[in-house]
This record gives sequence, C-alpha cells and structure tokens, in this order.
Amino acid sequence: MTEPVTGRAGERADAPTVLAVDIGGTKIAAAVVDGDGRIVADRRTPTLAQESPEVLWKALADLLDAVHADAGAPPLAGVGVGCVGPMTWPDGEVSPLNVPAWRRFPLRRRLRERYPGLPVRVHNDAVCVAVGEHWRGAGRGRDNVLGMVVSTGVGGGLVLGGRLVDGASGNAGHVGHIVVEPDGPPCPCGGRGCLEAVASGPSLVRWARERGWRPDDPDATSADLAADARAGHRVAAAALRRAGR
Ligand SMILES: [Zn+2]
Repeated sequence: MTEPVTGRAGERADAPTVLAVDIGGTKIAAAVVDGDGRIVADRRTPTLAQESPEVLWKALADLLDAVHADAGAPPLAGVGVGCVGPMTWPDGEVSPLNVPAWRRFPLRRRLRERYPGLPVRVHNDAVCVAVGEHWRGAGRGRDNVLGMVVSTGVGGGLVLGGRLVDGASGNAGHVGHIVVEPDGPPCPCGGRGCLEAVASGPSLVRWARERGWRPDDPDATSADLAADARAGHRVAAAALRRAGR
C-alpha cells in the first residue's frame, strides 16, 4: 500500500526523534525526523478520501508503522501532525475539507491511544509550514515570522518572540480570511473580499479569465497562468501582481 520515497536510516540516532505527518486531500506523507530536523525515513500513501473513517485510519496507521520500521524503529519523543482544516484545536478533531471520510474524526485521541505516553500535537497544515520555516527554513534565526501558504486556499501561521502564537482557536496568523477588499469577490467562508478570495490560485484564474486571459486548455490552472505571466501575457502578469500586492 505504501511506497518508500527515500531511506536514509542510521543518521544521528542520539537526537530526539519524532514522527511527523502531513495529511492532505490527495496524499498522506509521514517521516521520522531527528532532533536536527533531518528526515531519517519518509513514505507517502494516497488519502482514501471517500472511504470509511476506519479504512482511512488503518491506511494512516500502516503508513506510520512502515516509516518507523524504515528508520530502524528508533524510540520516539513525540508525534506531530499537520492536517487540512477545519479542525477543533487543540483537541485535534479533524474534518478536512476534501476528505469526506473524516468528519470530526478524533485524530489526536486515536494517535494518543496508539502511542501511549507520547505527546501528540495536531495543527493546521499552514501553521506547521510556518513553524517548519521558522525552525529550518526561510525564517531561521528570526524571532518574528509570518509564514504564508498560497495554494488552492491561502493560510498561514505566526511566530512572535520565537514562539508559535496559537490564538484562542488555533487560527492566529490564518491570513486567508483577512478582508483586503471590502467590496471584493465572495469567499467560500461566507465573507467578501478575503485575501483567499482575491489571491488563491483559483481566484487568480477567475480574475484573469474575466479580463481576457484565454488559455487553450479550458481547465487551465494557476500554474498555466504563472507560465503565461512569465511569457509576458499582460493580463496574466497583472493577475499575479495584484495577488502579490
Ligand atoms: Zn474568507
């Protein structure tokens, strides 16, 4: 069911080692990561989004067992999960938008039962990106970082004074639903003119089409839009400039 992506077992067995998981709409990725942020082993498996809750849980459990074995089954110091929202936080009951299999699925509780005694954290995937960039990426060495994910949606996370800020509901730094154009386009959240409604990939494509961008492919995506912008297409370039601003 799972296929190895890489295997670099044997590095730094002395550092505290954790299990890291990314649950998305199309795939679940898991890795064993050492205390310096190095990936010891990693695997991925398709997200069985339309199956029953327990079928998807079993696929996740099998993936975690396999990647842990790949790494040489080191003792684990914790389990960290980034998951597509929405979710309750910090309880980690998840209802990922594109994964109907899980509605209020008690992901954190199930993982705690599976790894007794280990700390288990479940957070919004964009928050995890922000924390990762702060620890090992573009925000390294900085005390204050706003991490943003611009994709099908727009999300983010906030690090202030070297610490992740969660806010009351775990949504601090979620920049996607800040209103940037009060009379702007409607947003799936029910608001109007949110950053996500203006600057997400699908929003850019819609805006450009309305202004005369005519790609050959009727299913053209924001990747095609970006390619046309690079090639000098005036409307495509304007769409990206607008999103950036
Ligand atoms: Zn919104």
